[in-house]
Amino acid sequence: MATLLIRNGRLIDPSRNLDVQRDLWIRDGKVAPDDFAAERPDDVFDAAGMLVMPGFVDVHVHLREPGNEQAETVETGCAAALAGGFTTLVCMPNTIPAMDNPDVVRRVLDKAAAVRGPRVYALGAVTVGRQGKRLAPMELLAEAGVVGFTDDGSGVQDEALARAAMQRAAALGLRIAEHCEVARLSEGGVIRRGPAAERACLPGLPPEAESDMVARDLRLARELKTSVHLQHLSTMQSVAHLRAAKARGIRFTAEVTPHHLALTDEDAADGGPDFKMNPPLGFEGDRKALCEALRDNIIEIIATDHAPHTPAAKALGFKNAPSGVIGMETAASVIWTHVAQRGFLSPLQMAARMSLAPAAAFKLEGGTLKPGARADVAVFNPDLSWTPKPEEFRSRGRNCPFKGRLLHGRVVCTVVAGEVKYRDALH
Ligand SMILES: [Zn+2]
Repeated sequence: MATLLIRNGRLIDPSRNLDVQRDLWIRDGKVAPDDFAAERPDDVFDAAGMLVMPGFVDVHVHLREPGNEQAETVETGCAAALAGGFTTLVCMPNTIPAMDNPDVVRRVLDKAAAVRGPRVYALGAVTVGRQGKRLAPMELLAEAGVVGFTDDGSGVQDEALARAAMQRAAALGLRIAEHCEVARLSEGGVIRRGPAAERACLPGLPPEAESDMVARDLRLARELKTSVHLQHLSTMQSVAHLRAAKARGIRFTAEVTPHHLALTDEDAADGGPDFKMNPPLGFEGDRKALCEALRDNIIEIIATDHAPHTPAAKALGFKNAPSGVIGMETAASVIWTHVAQRGFLSPLQMAARMSLAPAAAFKLEGGTLKPGARADVAVFNPDLSWTPKPEEFRSRGRNCPFKGRLLHGRVVCTVVAGEVKYRDALH
């Protein structure tokens, strides 16, 4: 019998609406019964003053393997996840080749299993080569273990194809996750259209590029009596569509990234290629609308869209560098600093948005510290302030927009199935 005691912490369990000062006992990989106590635990972590939460679940991660291992590998991505408190992640299929066939999916999942870090799941591509022309073999992808489908990096432009994809996914008991972007509207834009874009002399992209596809997919979900997942939302127009859809009983889940909750187009215009991502950072009003939507549970999921790129690729300048920023190693700290401390989320809500809700959206295990549950845990020290130095990250990516910016709170210990997989240097 292997036992681990996380003692003196504040136990935060969104699955039981529990926020209480209590020790957490783990036995043989599972959360032990409430009355359990061993005389001598095999391992002890002193969590005095810290939040003990279910391990975080990130449903939007780019592991870059196969095809761009200079930017990230399954192994380095998994290490980054653990350092950020993530015990489960879902990787995106825009690899090279794309995960539009079962072989590539199996290769990535096998590799991840061998790492023995966080649990790794994958979304399969919606269309062959993510080209938006014809549907990928979705049944075969489901057999290979994908937990949903997305052409992330682009949205499915053709409405008939998007409709057929939603139907086929639903028949498999799965859902489409949409990267909402109308290509015709975003064409050439690299930053949100507005004064900051003009000042930086960069081609701008209008908010409708995202919100028009959000509206279309919500309409399709209603017509097909199914549910859709909307990825990395960034505009107040999208939030307005979600609020209206919720009121009408349309089924959806939606995610928002830490960077869209913390930063704006002004940061992008001043900050350079490490602030270039797709969708781009919005106006201050968008940022506020996203925080409010998260507070009100209209958007219930925080996902990082962790997107590593090599320094050489990011050195091409704002206009030509690829879109994307890394995020797993800073996510909890950014949420704590920019969202929780500003009063938009309680610790219990933060835990729900980072573990319970994302797990539920893709029917994954996680998000609970109930006795008997698999012991996936993130210990967060709210009193530890730090300044991210990307050269110290476990990720291969260095494209971090929070580099050099003071953050409050940090993950100090990550437990997967009862095993301590990450412990910071101080503990
Ligand atoms: Zn995307």
